[in-house]
Amino acid sequence: MEITEASVRELVEQVLTSLDGKILRGATGLGSTSGGGAGPVAGTGRGVFPDIDAAIRAARSAHEELMARTLETRTHMVAAMRQAVQKNLERLADLAVQETGMGRRQDKVLKNKVAGELTPGVEDLRAVTFSGDHGLTLVERAPYGVVGSITPSTNPTETIISNAIGMISAGNSVVFNPHPSAKGVSAFTIDFLNQAIASAGGPANMLCTVAEPTIQSAQRLFDHPEIDLLVVTGGPGVVRAAMKSTKKVIAAGPGNPPCVVDETANLVKAGRDIVSGTGFDNNIVCIDEKEILAVASIADRLKAELVKNGACELSRSQVDAVTKLVIADAGKPGHEGAPNKEFVGKDAYLIARAVGVDVPRDTRILLCEVDGQHPLVWTEQLMPVIPLVRCNDADAAIDLAVACEHGFRHTAVMHSLNIEKLSRMAKVMNCSLFVKNGSAYNGLGFGGAGFTSWTIASPTGEGLTRATTFTRERRCALIDYFRIV
Ligand code: NAD
Repeated sequence: MEITEASVRELVEQVLTSLDGKILRGATGLGSTSGGGAGPVAGTGRGVFPDIDAAIRAARSAHEELMARTLETRTHMVAAMRQAVQKNLERLADLAVQETGMGRRQDKVLKNKVAGELTPGVEDLRAVTFSGDHGLTLVERAPYGVVGSITPSTNPTETIISNAIGMISAGNSVVFNPHPSAKGVSAFTIDFLNQAIASAGGPANMLCTVAEPTIQSAQRLFDHPEIDLLVVTGGPGVVRAAMKSTKKVIAAGPGNPPCVVDETANLVKAGRDIVSGTGFDNNIVCIDEKEILAVASIADRLKAELVKNGACELSRSQVDAVTKLVIADAGKPGHEGAPNKEFVGKDAYLIARAVGVDVPRDTRILLCEVDGQHPLVWTEQLMPVIPLVRCNDADAAIDLAVACEHGFRHTAVMHSLNIEKLSRMAKVMNCSLFVKNGSAYNGLGFGGAGFTSWTIASPTGEGLTRATTFTRERRCALIDYFRIV
């Protein structure tokens, strides 16, 4: 079936209408939806509520029910969620591209697949024991209770899937406040995950949301006494807003990942990896490489490899025109800047066409050679417009990388076979994620080792979040007994 904007708009409408019919009216029908009163859990358990207070009440009772279930049931719930994700991969990708107008369908299929498969589950929670002359002490991981999670437009479903698996594995229920421009596909995701949880014997409304998410409903999560932990995934504005809350906050903020290539790098591989990484989902992923800092002696050879792999290099005047178009607020030292939202996540050929340049439709990135102070280097564009800067040597490239990353401490990449320079960059970037000789997304567990996460908490330091991140540590000490030796 051909996917058109109209067909997907219809699908989103259908999802919201069906949710409205089955849940919202049912919920409202139960009486009060704001303030105190009975929770509007209409027995459907599909998680979408007319107002945020109703969602929080339902999530609270879901959490209490979960605490009465076994870990075995929790494990089955997570397995059912993973299966449901795999069944919905194509639909999720279509809905997200059409509703948000950003990204690439095939990359979204992969992102959701990875979120469903590689997010750690219940097995991530490890109990620890201490045994000594004075007895035995047990340390276990306990849930916070109800988590309030703010999710972005750029990875709307991946973040919900990955948060949901990790937070439920940890024993929490979740109230999501998705980005308004992704509310349909977010509600759809929450709905099918709740159905999967119910099919595995889990409580209703483990995952809740509000039909019309807004900044005000997000703010209500920040202040509501029944929210035990806040997890925010988004840009600088939402991180600043959440950090004002008196609650514990896990904040996953913006990045501007530099990619340094030195004269020892395997340029054939670097060219392939960089186009694949910078072009991934049209560069809207926070960890995607955002600027290439190449040692001058290999810059021309690297550019030739980039072009072989789908980059199209723009002339100086074309770079000027594109910069005017895509930068709303120019980033510079000490100032993060902002892109023109109209072009975030758009295909490279559409951005080129907007300045009167025709490039092949399958162009993955628009390559722009600029100097080190250029706004394209210092702004997180989130689109396939990628600056390349010639640097005198590896140390100069690393120094520029540290500066233009703005101290976000998020993600950085280096292509090099020089272990001294690789080690230096790893140390001085001081990032949550540092990828050597691969695409940045390889660091999220696909094409690289390890688990995945779509909430990378650099400002608050948790790094790639996982089930354990969403738990409290609790200790129980039995004095003088229970050693077996
Ligand atoms: P955004 O900041 O516009 O929105 C993110 C979420 O925050 C949305 O739900 C939005 O409604 C909400 N929000 C925004 N301002 C708010 C405020 N003042 N108060 C309460 N809620 C508010 O971001 P986006 O465009 O959806 O996503 C892209 C940004 O997110 C980029 O900066 C990217 O680097 C970052 N991001 C980071 C990670 C990570 O793991 N670190 C993951 C994805 C995206």
